[in-house]
Amino acid sequence: MNLRLAGLQSDSIVDGPGIRLAIYLQGCPHHCPGCHNPETHDPAGGWPVASGELLEIIDRHSRENGSFTIDGVTLSGGEPFEQAPVLALLVGEITKRGLNLVVYSGYTFEQLLQRSNYDRNTLYLLEASWLLIDGPFVREEKDLSLSYRGSRNQRLIDLSRSLAAGEALEWVGGYEFSDQSWIAG
Ligand code: SF4
Repeated sequence: MNLRLAGLQSDSIVDGPGIRLAIYLQGCPHHCPGCHNPETHDPAGGWPVASGELLEIIDRHSRENGSFTIDGVTLSGGEPFEQAPVLALLVGEITKRGLNLVVYSGYTFEQLLQRSNYDRNTLYLLEASWLLIDGPFVREEKDLSLSYRGSRNQRLIDLSRSLAAGEALEWVGGYEFSDQSWIAG
């Protein structure tokens, strides 16, 4: 199955904690006023890539002498959850490699949780990911001092705690890097 991509950024330090490979998915239904990436909105734009080919790209961008040189992979956009059926096939392979997952969405955690009641791909994507950076970009809430997000309404949500609690719990940091992965400190 194919995904549509808008771009890739290796060694990113602005798309979540640590050093990350950022994958920008093509297609977004939110049309937030002031969006910095309007070229990602058209679901027919970008270019197609097979999920297996994307795994090869992840390995190529992130391995050096057999070891991973990044902390994790970020799924951004566009709107990643519009391509949840294909991403759901891929995320297990990414986490199996010891890479953590950060996912961005213009939907809120509460909207995605509701959607996950009838869409198991959405649930699978949430369960496989470490952090969700949620909500639309709101121009009136724009704040350039924020880490990893553009407006104050957007939250960094710790997904394993939030899914267990059934409510959005924000990430409070306190993670440290191990040889294997980012672990709770
Ligand atoms: S969700 Fe993101 S990509 Fe989509 S319109 Fe809003 S800011 Fe742009």
